[in-house]
Amino acid sequence: MEKIVINKEACVGCGMCVHQNPDYLVFDENGHAEAIDKEIKPEDKKSILESIEICPTEAICIVEEK
Ligand code: SF4
Repeated sequence: MEKIVINKEACVGCGMCVHQNPDYLVFDENGHAEAIDKEIKPEDKKSILESIEICPTEAICIVEEK
């Protein structure tokens, strides 16, 4: 299954991805984006791919997990 992974060292906390995908991303205690541990629904993937493109530091990726 596919999940979001955030590179917190790269994330600058701009918040764009969190606001665009609140069902999948939250802020951690340091103001970085944090992925909720859940499978990406097919209908949500387009929005998440948009966030991946928009992220200024390329901190978001999708990984395939078994
Ligand atoms: S868009 Fe990128 S830099 Fe901005 S909060 Fe999300 S992961 Fe962090």
